[in-house]
Amino acid sequence: MTDSIGQKPWMKTPQAIAVMDALEARGFSGCARFVGGCVRNALLNRPIDDIDIATTLTPDQVMEALQDAGIKAVPTGVEHGTITAVAHGQPFEITTLRRDVSTDGRRAVVAFTEDWAEDAQRRDFTLNAVYADRDGTLFDPTGRGVEDGRAGRIIFVGDAMTRIREDYLRILRFFRFQAWYGRGDPDEKALAACKALKESLSGRPAERTAKELTKLLAAEEPRPALALMAQSGVLTAILPCATDLSGFNQLVEIETEQLFENDPILRLATLIPEDQVGAAQIAERLRLSNEVRDRLVAAMGRTPRITSWMSPRETRRGVYAIGLAAFNDRVKLAWAKSGRTSATHQWRGLLALAESWSPPTFPLTGDDVIHAGVPKGPMVGQVLREVEEWWIDHDFIDDKFSAIEKLKAVAQGMAY
Ligand code: ATP
Ligand code: MG
Repeated sequence: MTDSIGQKPWMKTPQAIAVMDALEARGFSGCARFVGGCVRNALLNRPIDDIDIATTLTPDQVMEALQDAGIKAVPTGVEHGTITAVAHGQPFEITTLRRDVSTDGRRAVVAFTEDWAEDAQRRDFTLNAVYADRDGTLFDPTGRGVEDGRAGRIIFVGDAMTRIREDYLRILRFFRFQAWYGRGDPDEKALAACKALKESLSGRPAERTAKELTKLLAAEEPRPALALMAQSGVLTAILPCATDLSGFNQLVEIETEQLFENDPILRLATLIPEDQVGAAQIAERLRLSNEVRDRLVAAMGRTPRITSWMSPRETRRGVYAIGLAAFNDRVKLAWAKSGRTSATHQWRGLLALAESWSPPTFPLTGDDVIHAGVPKGPMVGQVLREVEEWWIDHDFIDDKFSAIEKLKAVAQGMAY
């Protein structure tokens, strides 16, 4: 039976046409097909991210084909046959059909092939081993990828234990795809294999682990998959501190109810202890970017203390002290950890107030302090901070005159 998803708009953009034309000009019509996430998501009517292409052309031929067509070619993973074409700024990952010859759980030794069915055998799950021609005609060598995809079944291609031993990261990919596309009960064999081999996840390259975990956490409804991951011991194998999912579950519930955007980093924050040093260590261990690490650390601080009954004044004080982004994160975390949904109005009120308030600039500078008679040196900063504290205590009083009066009083009280 020939199935088709029809020719999707992303298949006929000038960029996609240019890349496919280039490959076919070097090879023959049909030597390249779309595969992986783009086909799967098109099949399931979900938006697509990146475009992966499989081809019978060898990596050298792919390079030549792209160069001949004037398309930028970046050898991003030549050892396993991947070249990234960049056409008018859009990347396409082009991988030569291959079969895995040997693996040590990390790095596959590959042989290229012209056999699409062989290529399908080295892919992780049946729903990821479906290919589409340029016109959307589907090709499903495992014979069940389309059906599994539609039914929300995440099934390893071949024997789950064997496939995981070849690449332990597939354990995490299983839960990630379960979170995004799984429906109904998960495949028992797959789950048992993940559980049996979970220990081998420790000591794996952190970037890949973190990437899969973050993608999992970004799913619309990650709770069932994460619960499975916790039950099978896989979650603590990669994140030993993640023993309590209640804050996580609550955060997802809040996000869903309040129509907040899914926030994988904040979701991750619910799984790690509320401690800045610990958060920084976990971020290092997972090799998260500096930006993400800083965000996690800032979200973890305990002062100012965030409660649903904070006054507007305390709220402003909090935003001034740590900035709007960190304040928002802390409110959502405190809300999630409060374990109650009854204070919804108060929590939302805090977020709204913080959002609508622009922190004023402290009206005095070091020059003002020096004018008030304080000698240049460390004392200037000290005096300035004391007056700033007073100004904050007075709810950011918009009155430079009073601030100068206070400055004079502080300056007079200092012993130089
Ligand atoms: P998305 O891009 O939406 O995250 P994807 O399925 O395209 O999902 P990629 O990581 O881009 O995932 O991989 C592209 C394809 O390559 C997959 O669909 C799968 O067929 C294959 N693949 C990727 N990683 C592995 C792996 N570790 N083991 C086996 N096959 C893999
Ligand atoms: Mg992809």
